[in-house]
Amino acid sequence: MTFQVTILGSNSAIPAYGRHHTAQFVQLNNQKYLVDCGEATQNQLKHYKLSALKLNAIFISHLHGDHYLGLVGLLSSMHLQGRTKALYLLGPRGLKDIITTHFRFSDTVLKYKLIFKPTQAQTEALIFEDKNAKVYTIPLDHRIDCTGFLFKEKQHPIRFNKDKLPPNLSLAHIGSLKKGDDIFDEDGKLLYKNSDLTLPPLPQKSYAYCSDTKYIPELKKQLYGVDLLYHEATFLNESELWASNTFHSTTAQAAELAKESKAKKLLIGHFSARYKDLKPFEEEARKVFKESYLALEGSTFEI
Ligand SMILES: [Zn+2]
Ligand SMILES: [Zn+2]
Repeated sequence: MTFQVTILGSNSAIPAYGRHHTAQFVQLNNQKYLVDCGEATQNQLKHYKLSALKLNAIFISHLHGDHYLGLVGLLSSMHLQGRTKALYLLGPRGLKDIITTHFRFSDTVLKYKLIFKPTQAQTEALIFEDKNAKVYTIPLDHRIDCTGFLFKEKQHPIRFNKDKLPPNLSLAHIGSLKKGDDIFDEDGKLLYKNSDLTLPPLPQKSYAYCSDTKYIPELKKQLYGVDLLYHEATFLNESELWASNTFHSTTAQAAELAKESKAKKLLIGHFSARYKDLKPFEEEARKVFKESYLALEGSTFEI
């Protein structure tokens, strides 16, 4: 079982010090998703040997350039590489206009189907589902409409307790156990209790991506118990007022939300280009929430 996120970009508005615009590659078993697609994303995918052709869906948080300017290039490359597999694109309403306008004026008809689904920034909603995951929007508070994304694993199957499993169980009996049923003989007499032969399913893990936003304490409800939380921390604590005025957050605010929502681990990113040294970000966040890490390019975090 694989559930992991690889950071492709961690800087805010202007790329600086080798840090790129925001993008993350999320992998859940054989399903692959891209979350935000700033400039340089396709180069970063190549650099870290991740295949864009395998992507099932792309999620765009909002329409500030540092979160989507790499999208037209990436979609075009997949067209040139002969992609035929349909691709889901989820993002704010205006995104479809931007993409279709570009391809109309470049006289391009994509070789693959692009299935666009608009997000709605005001409410939590289930916006995507496949065999492994359900993805919900997280309403954020930014200068323009902006959503985060909560990736939740689907319920895992019941596990057999191999030490307890009697030999020669029929296929029908195994089927009953998988459904959570007890096993009876032909006369209706109980042969085995399900709970004696099985173990509970593995816990459903989750990843929350909170893109550009002011600090919203109430998010702890939706994020409660999340395994990995990414939250922007554009500024250090000294710039709290500036962060709020520009609809961003500080390190301590991101860490406070991780603590309040009882997240297991926090990633911070979207660093302002004014900072070269990121060590103080980690230090400030860890004062509030010990399990805080920098979302640096090329790092992969297991969920
Ligand atoms: Zn941004
Ligand atoms: Zn923004």
